[in-house]
Amino acid sequence: MSHFTPAALNWLCLILEERFGLNFHLQPSQDGLMLTLTDHDQGSIYFPKLEAAFHESRSDLPFTQWDASVEWWESVLGEPLPAPGVATLPKPLIERQAQQAIIHYDILGLTYWVLNRVEEIDRTDLDNHGRFPATSSHAFKHGYLERPVVDEWLHVLGQVIQKQWPQVELKQHQFSMKVSHDVDAPSRYGFSSTKGMIRGMAGDVLKRKNFKSALTAPFIRLNSSKKLHPADPFNTFDWIMEQSEQHGLVSAFYFICGRTDASKDADYEPEHPAIRELMRRIHTRGHEIGLHPSYNSYQAPEAIAAEAERLRAVMREEGISQNILGGRMHYLRWEHPTTLQAWNDAGMSYDSTLSYADLPGFRCGTCYEYPAFNSVTQQILKIRIRPLIAMECTIIAERYMGLGYGKEAESKFLELKEKCRKVKGCFTLLWHNSHFANQEDLTLYKQILDSRSTRNNND
Ligand SMILES: [Zn+2]
Repeated sequence: MSHFTPAALNWLCLILEERFGLNFHLQPSQDGLMLTLTDHDQGSIYFPKLEAAFHESRSDLPFTQWDASVEWWESVLGEPLPAPGVATLPKPLIERQAQQAIIHYDILGLTYWVLNRVEEIDRTDLDNHGRFPATSSHAFKHGYLERPVVDEWLHVLGQVIQKQWPQVELKQHQFSMKVSHDVDAPSRYGFSSTKGMIRGMAGDVLKRKNFKSALTAPFIRLNSSKKLHPADPFNTFDWIMEQSEQHGLVSAFYFICGRTDASKDADYEPEHPAIRELMRRIHTRGHEIGLHPSYNSYQAPEAIAAEAERLRAVMREEGISQNILGGRMHYLRWEHPTTLQAWNDAGMSYDSTLSYADLPGFRCGTCYEYPAFNSVTQQILKIRIRPLIAMECTIIAERYMGLGYGKEAESKFLELKEKCRKVKGCFTLLWHNSHFANQEDLTLYKQILDSRSTRNNND
């Protein structure tokens, strides 16, 4: 029996249409699903066995792998494909007959389960920020978190589609990269209280042995009333934009526009003249402004809506108009699908929160942006999900992976970027403007932007 509602089948057709550039029709047939092309009378792809587990919120599903090359199919990463949901797979996995191909693995169920984060719904095994951690996920437990598993299986499905309908042309995608910057702290001292500044200065001297930063602090604070001070160590915006421009990228800067936790949210207001000036500068240079909803807003749809409205008001007042307005949750806090629905209802264009804070990789199993679906209400949403692949501190910081700034960290970023390149998806990288305080940050960031995959247009 098919577990898919008509809305879920329509959503799956949307996903396939964006991926392959063709109009599909999906319908239940016996115990499985039949995939046909709307403007072709002939031919079909049949999925006879659907997995009920792909509609359940659990991480204890069985797992196996499938070696595509044994059946003469191509694996896009050149490795056996992770196959969640089943303990064994029949051989051959893919049968071809004259009018029909039969695929004995529930690729569509997998797509539904991973993209809609079904696994995460109503979970209670959360971390100290209320987040579903990578370590609880099926992908981590079975070692495929760094694999874009949905993209890999859709690549196989694409080959079957091409064999089944040799006359159709599949849409070709191109690798891209997107960088974004959560503006948690636009200024080291500019917006802090006297007490906060003194605490920061003491930290500079005692912990960081940075006397210069401490000594200039009062001066920077006095001179940040209209414009962020050039000597402010967190005022890295021009440098970031310059890097992006040199690499043909657009930087997105996400601003905090509310305070739901005084200790974890920002110390600036989006209406401050120096922030307005910054937004104008970003916009004038052709970069993007977005929203970074505050710490406790992830379970408070009305807070996300209010913060979005506050940002829109400032942008309107500054004459900044953008076709899209997206962003990311502060601390990557996310309750699925509450937070997703809140973004949607706030009229936002996309969200780019979905990566795990504790480990980088493919939380959504894909590095393609895609239309969201609320699997609880069974509704196709307007908002798009732009999966995040890596946040700088996830890889660098001691509290997470702790790889620091050496070769190991560099290769982790580059491996992930390379996988996105191979599946012709988008490598999205989060690097905070306040995380460029030392030379090692600048060097590593440039290496990631520079690496051959950015400029490699051979495919
Ligand atoms: Zn943040």
